[in-house]
Amino acid sequence: MVKETKLYDTLGVSPDASDAQIKKAYRLGALKYHPDKNQHSPEAADKFKEVSHAYEILSDNQKREIYDSYGEEGLNGGGMGGGMDGNPEDLFSHFFGGMGGMFGGQGGPQRETGPRKSKDIVHTLKVKLEDLYKGKVAKLKLTKTVNCAPCGGRGGKEGAVKTCTSCGGRGVKFVTRQMGPMVQRFQTTCPECNGEGQMIDARDRCKVCKGKKTVDEQKVLEVHIDKGMRDGQKVVFQGEGDQGPNIIPGDVVFVVEEVSHDRFIRKGDDLYYNAKIDLNTALTGGAFIIKHLDDEILKVEIVPGEVIAPGCLKVIEGKGMPSYRHHNFGNMFVQFEVDFPKAYFADEHTLQQIEALLPKKEVPSIPKNAQVEEVMLADADPIKQRASQGMHDDEDEDYEGQGGQGVQCASQ
Ligand SMILES: [Zn+2]
Ligand SMILES: [Zn+2]
Repeated sequence: MVKETKLYDTLGVSPDASDAQIKKAYRLGALKYHPDKNQHSPEAADKFKEVSHAYEILSDNQKREIYDSYGEEGLNGGGMGGGMDGNPEDLFSHFFGGMGGMFGGQGGPQRETGPRKSKDIVHTLKVKLEDLYKGKVAKLKLTKTVNCAPCGGRGGKEGAVKTCTSCGGRGVKFVTRQMGPMVQRFQTTCPECNGEGQMIDARDRCKVCKGKKTVDEQKVLEVHIDKGMRDGQKVVFQGEGDQGPNIIPGDVVFVVEEVSHDRFIRKGDDLYYNAKIDLNTALTGGAFIIKHLDDEILKVEIVPGEVIAPGCLKVIEGKGMPSYRHHNFGNMFVQFEVDFPKAYFADEHTLQQIEALLPKKEVPSIPKNAQVEEVMLADADPIKQRASQGMHDDEDEDYEGQGGQGVQCASQ
């Protein structure tokens, strides 16, 4: 009769479970609750820790005996180290054949029999802003390694698989090397069996995989690009990574890379648009259009009298990007550029009429008796401007601020 059953319950086994049953229960639990498999949810992380803790105690005969007789309390006292000795992640990789620390000890190599997880396969997926706006299903073909079906992943006929005689099935061999005065022992992958610990006679090998146990297969994955997804967001296909003997397939991960757009700049869920309108519309009102990402045409009214100044920023609410997994939208900000008429677009008479219509112009007041010189404006030549400021071509960025204005004001 055991004192308490909490740790057994955590693993879902009965208190009279065998070592093998406990090991199996931990393996299932650890895989199920591993944080990587659960989007790092705190609940799963806690379960993972609990399962790891239970296994740590119950897989150790001495600790298990104490637990059976005295419960967890017994483990906490007497210096038995009832708490988690290591971190659960270490236990996990240890159990599932992480290479660290398993080999090279004095007691000779012990080959971990548990499966290990294959590497996640990560792809970058370039997505147009239009597709992030509307959503899309991208079908992607990828080549992956799968267990060979005809031989059941064994690599040959049943019974044909033999333990490698060169390494005794360990998959690794030790070599000694003289390094100056020291003799060092190195561990290398067995070249006869390529570290698998097994060999198959040439004539017994599976014809399909030629004894490799795996074959390449092409698979089409449907990647759902949801509305409003952002640059760097991931789409994960769990367990779609490479298969192999004693391998838990890793995940295939697609990382969204937003392609920059020629009309819109995205900031979070907001869109920025540069609108160019003519001077007349800016002064007297009118309309212009914005073609949205789904080709919808937005007709934007400028109310007569509103007057749009160059560089001013306005907003169209709710016309930005859809929010990912929310049912609302960001805003669209519109920055205005006003297209002025070309030089000498009107004759003198027309200019006088315009002058009469526009608000009164400011006439400079000059103090009496001031020395006044009349000067003329000419078009600025950016190259001459740079030369007189002692700038060189490689100082382009410093120059940008001043030169930019020159371009704007230049008559065409
Ligand atoms: Zn070998
Ligand atoms: Zn095969």
